[in-house]
Amino acid sequence: MNTNSIPHKKLAVVIVDFQGDFTEEKKGSLAVPGTDKNYIMEVIDATKRFVDNNLPIYATQDWHPNNHMSFYTNHPGTHPFDMIEINGRSQIMWPPHCIQGTEGANILIDNFFLKQVIQKGMDPRFDSYSGFADDGGKKIQLEEILNQDGVTELIIYGLATDYCVKATVLDAIKIGFRVHLLLDLCRGVLPETTASATEKMRAHGTDITEIAAFFNSGQD
Ligand SMILES: [Zn+2]
Repeated sequence: MNTNSIPHKKLAVVIVDFQGDFTEEKKGSLAVPGTDKNYIMEVIDATKRFVDNNLPIYATQDWHPNNHMSFYTNHPGTHPFDMIEINGRSQIMWPPHCIQGTEGANILIDNFFLKQVIQKGMDPRFDSYSGFADDGGKKIQLEEILNQDGVTELIIYGLATDYCVKATVLDAIKIGFRVHLLLDLCRGVLPETTASATEKMRAHGTDITEIAAFFNSGQD
């Protein structure tokens, strides 16, 4: 592993919303383009390599109740991907996804490899793209867990680049973590919003990189 100046024990991996409903491979209700079998295998393989290098792996999990406000089905007359105003905030109407206890909510990496799963989006009144806080401002336990474990630097990848990855990365930077975003292990909902999200993350100080920056071929 090519660690350079990175102190091992303070570096950790955060995998964002790597769940069936966000993938084509699992025929998810909110499948992000490019999330085929190959993508799933690349994410799993990369994660195993980080585990082999003793990095702790944390995973966020979108975990909604049936009556969640982000589902268009809970707003009669709306359609998927409509933008509506709720309590003064813009909200995209998503297809129902990642409902608690359903197969589509499952994380696609064996729990054995994960140090901890951080669930979000349980409050039906607020959406929660970020793994650090929901749209109502309520903190999610990720920050506390990372602080307790002495983590200062994060490798982040997952789904989707233009929503939950972006929000999680920007919050991590705001809190003070150094962030390496592995862009080749992320997929976005739309090309335009993915490009602007990537630029925004870069502008805020994110190291936009890829898995090859951490592993030299064949010799880590
Ligand atoms: Zn959601």
